[in-house]
Amino acid sequence: MKKSEEVLIIGGGIAGLSASLFLDKAGIKSTIYESRSSHYDEGAGFLVSPSGVKILKSLINEQELYSHCSVIDVFRQFNEMGEETAYNRNYEDKYYGAPTLNIIRSKLTALLLKEIETQKINIRFNKKLVSIEQTQSRVKAFFDDDSQAEGIILIGADGTHSRTRASIFPGISLSYTGTWGVQGVSTLEGLELGSSMNAYFGKRTFGIVVGKSDPKDKSVLWQAFGMNERKLPTTEFDHAPSQMIKDLLKNRMEGWKLPTPLFNMIEKTERMYPRSIFGIDSMPSWSQGRVVLIGDALHATNPFTGMGASFSLEDALYLAKLLSQHDYRDAFFYFENDRKNRVKDITSHFDSLLISLPTNMDETMHNYEIKWDKLEKR
Ligand SMILES: Cc1cc2nc3c(=O)[nH]c(=O)nc-3n(C[C@H](O)[C@H](O)[C@H](O)COP(=O)(O)OP(=O)(O)OC[C@H]3O[C@@H](n4cnc5c(N)ncnc54)[C@H](O)[C@@H]3O)c2cc1C
Repeated sequence: MKKSEEVLIIGGGIAGLSASLFLDKAGIKSTIYESRSSHYDEGAGFLVSPSGVKILKSLINEQELYSHCSVIDVFRQFNEMGEETAYNRNYEDKYYGAPTLNIIRSKLTALLLKEIETQKINIRFNKKLVSIEQTQSRVKAFFDDDSQAEGIILIGADGTHSRTRASIFPGISLSYTGTWGVQGVSTLEGLELGSSMNAYFGKRTFGIVVGKSDPKDKSVLWQAFGMNERKLPTTEFDHAPSQMIKDLLKNRMEGWKLPTPLFNMIEKTERMYPRSIFGIDSMPSWSQGRVVLIGDALHATNPFTGMGASFSLEDALYLAKLLSQHDYRDAFFYFENDRKNRVKDITSHFDSLLISLPTNMDETMHNYEIKWDKLEKR
């Protein structure tokens, strides 16, 4: 791509923010259009896998990154009686060339936004994409405030319910996966986690994962996952008051013999982030004309993988790298061609799982690196 050509990025989540930073490294100008106001406080956080951490380290000052997140060295699994059923050390830094990190979403977003400001990359808030129009030489984005923007290509990084995807592939729908997730940030008094991520998987198809999220205080990030064949009604789940979500979790954990601090942790959580989990029906292509998709807009990743954020970072780096080397048509072709097996292998493995610790996938998920300066896999 020529450096003077402007790229439109729809969505300022981890995929969109990191794509703009990598394009900037390649000398390609982009503008991010984000539907929210500048204040980001949605979503609790994520576990970033070593493949994602290696990429983050090329975007954010390492010391600053580590001062805002917790390093996870060990993954421990327990049953609902509190008995340890697995102890997995291969999360340590030495195994995959980078550690696994637990980080609050707003902190990661703030770090990326700071870098965006430093690099003077354009970001426009309160710009909700409504539709897209493509001509032979340009692509136009139309927003809900009646404004529009024009560029040479458009990157749709607008998440699972992507308007970009709906615009280019109107026939593709989302399917409820039979699972739901709730995240929260709280404190865990009386139970020392150290650098361990503890997962409690019980009967009644429910599990809860807990890890420290900030090295400076006692805060923990917890994520609970449950299964319901039929999607829970929005008023009783996705938009339900916190107390209703707490009651749902308590109900799933009834009879569990876990340390009391875990129950207190849920009770003390001020804000819950419940989400019914959807998957994208099979896509005909990852791009259409001058429009390409990345992150959850492309492959809404099952949260059991703990790979959604890392996939977004991998997509962003790889696409920007290809755009710096090729015409957009070839870049889009290689992007899909080179990445689709990695995404498919991991996501399809988890699609067939209920809730368990899939250690046999760790090597595939984490022993992977795409470098900015070299394209070879490690
Ligand atoms: C319960 C749960 C737990 C999870 N846990 C983990 C985990 O531990 N580890 C992990 O790696 N991943 C996890 N994930 C997945 C992870 O959150 C996502 O994969 C990741 O956030 C995807 O980033 P993204 O930038 O592609 O999309 P998003 O983070 O969804 O960002 C999309 C952005 O686009 C904006 N937008 C949307 N529509 C428009 C529009 N029309 N116009 C303009 N802007 C728009 C949104 O406001 C948003 O800022 C979890 C997900 C869930 C549901």
